[in-house]
Amino acid sequence: MLNTEEIRKEFPILEQKVYGKPLVYLDNAATTQKPQSVIDAQNEVYTTFNANVHRGIHHLSQVATEAMEQARHTVREFIGAAHSHEVVFTRGTTESINLVASSFGGTFLKSGDEVIISAMEHHSNIVPWQMLRDRTGITLRIIPLTAECTLDIDAYKKLFNERTRLVCVTHVSNVLGVTNPVKEIIGIAHSHNVPVLIDGAQSTPHIKIDMQELDADFFAFSGHKVYAPTGIGVLYGKEKWLNAMQPYHGGGEMIKSVSFEKTTYNTLPYKFEAGTPDYAGIIALGKALEWVKSKGIENIAAHEHMLTQYAVEQLQKIEGMRIFGKPDGAAVSFLVGNIHPADMGTILDHLGIAVRTGHHCAQPLMGILGIPGTVRASFAAYNTKEEVDALVKGIERASRMFA
Ligand code: PMP
Repeated sequence: MLNTEEIRKEFPILEQKVYGKPLVYLDNAATTQKPQSVIDAQNEVYTTFNANVHRGIHHLSQVATEAMEQARHTVREFIGAAHSHEVVFTRGTTESINLVASSFGGTFLKSGDEVIISAMEHHSNIVPWQMLRDRTGITLRIIPLTAECTLDIDAYKKLFNERTRLVCVTHVSNVLGVTNPVKEIIGIAHSHNVPVLIDGAQSTPHIKIDMQELDADFFAFSGHKVYAPTGIGVLYGKEKWLNAMQPYHGGGEMIKSVSFEKTTYNTLPYKFEAGTPDYAGIIALGKALEWVKSKGIENIAAHEHMLTQYAVEQLQKIEGMRIFGKPDGAAVSFLVGNIHPADMGTILDHLGIAVRTGHHCAQPLMGILGIPGTVRASFAAYNTKEEVDALVKGIERASRMFA
């Protein structure tokens, strides 16, 4: 069980008022707030040991390098990767997926090859593949949805053929809050000898991630959605794939030797980490994952699940309520009558309640659902049932205003 009252004290931002009302922050799927320990960790870098990593012989550089590599170890443990060098630091999920599209695509994919994605992907797991399609002539195949807004696994099985080279799906939908059966999806792909990339942006904060159990070939997530700072993220890749792939960015750190005639590349993970990394962000990401570990990801998941189920129950009582999909995670997307999501969001905002409205970077999914957007409430470890009640009251008030 989480002690939410105590947890809230660790998040200074939650103490503030918005328009004179206590802040009710229900936009966690967009980004989470940060505990003091994470804020302190980043400050500590700049106040006590800031120096560029890896290249320095001097004391500060060594301290910074050790702290950064310790954070890589923390990430490895957190996601159950076999090796620390399978953990590549990126700017976030978006960059991680672009890295795979560019490097895996550049190395292994050619015209006529097929990549499978799903109908519920975030734009960051659609557009990089379209860009690759435009460059190389690959074909995208789309896993459709069932009537219940889950992935149609039977249809997925039928998408495979001898040209299928990669499957890229999201673990948890950022719109529907639905968890996809990624283990089954990976198993099916592997039975065709096809590797799988999992977009873990919405699962890492809420589900125990274990690469040994999942057997994903690639796994991408963003630090900022799991209580860490913005601008830092992770690409996990199996050693065999990362070793075989061409680099993504070129520059310092990713090389072994450079001459005008020939460059040889560094070993993993540095081959994919050109330039000065965001070591302060990496160190703070390590702290954020330690914070999650200290509370217990299972406890966090159970708490968020309870809040989501409670929210669904309460929301369903509101006249004209339409909830999309069957959320089983930490987010719920809905519309009420004919109220435009932006109007609903604005009214809730004036009550101090932060929700996200719009297409949630999933326009193809909105097209399938036949709607321009939704209102999304999403939960984190520090949210409470009272906040769900405030949301429900706010929606009822908006409904009355528009009646
Ligand atoms: N995939 C999913 C499912 C997401 O929810 C998000 C963020 N909304 C992303 C990818 C992109 O994450 P980022 O903007 O941190 O790169």
